[in-house]
Amino acid sequence: MLTVKDLHKSYQVGKTTYEVLKGVSLTVEKGEFVAVMGPSGSGKTTLLNCISCYIPINSGEIMLGDRQLANLSEDALAKVRNRQLGFVFQDFLLLDGLTVRENILLPAIIGGEQAADRLCGIFGIGAIRNKYPAEISGGEKQRTAVARALINHPLLILADEPTGALDYNTGKAILKLL
Ligand code: ADP
Ligand code: MG
Repeated sequence: MLTVKDLHKSYQVGKTTYEVLKGVSLTVEKGEFVAVMGPSGSGKTTLLNCISCYIPINSGEIMLGDRQLANLSEDALAKVRNRQLGFVFQDFLLLDGLTVRENILLPAIIGGEQAADRLCGIFGIGAIRNKYPAEISGGEKQRTAVARALINHPLLILADEPTGALDYNTGKAILKLL
């Protein structure tokens, strides 16, 4: 489903080039749960940002289904991100001005109200769905973020250290939900 081939990515800082990804290849099949592990600074976030096309790559291929992501126009990419990818970040990235329910609903274009309520039920956040992020716990924030990543039935969920900001037990619960 996802195929990454010989991906190279470097950052240019002033006159210095930092090579971060030096020929990364991987495949992810439908239904597969893949964890990328490595020390801080080894390039995990860079890899995820390349796969989501948030940052340009130097060379290599990124295929989602039979589409080459690097060749897509900005418009087409925006559609792929919205419809085929779900994102979960270490620091949740919830919008403070929206309630839990509204945050989950955000990626849905139309007709998502019922889906948001269903996800609130599945994730055990129904009782707090009208609260704002500032009023809920870290575990509840991350459950909201995972629910939001699912609202558009993505092909692929990309999660960058989704348990990094949580204690051990809450982190375990989030992994189980994923
Ligand atoms: P990880 O997520 O595994 O901790 P990162 O992908 O965030 O690692 O970072 C990999 C390396 O790339 C680090 O050495 C980091 O300093 C460097 N790096 C990350 N983002 C940038 C950037 N925008 N500009 C320059 N260097 C960067
Ligand atoms: Mg990182």
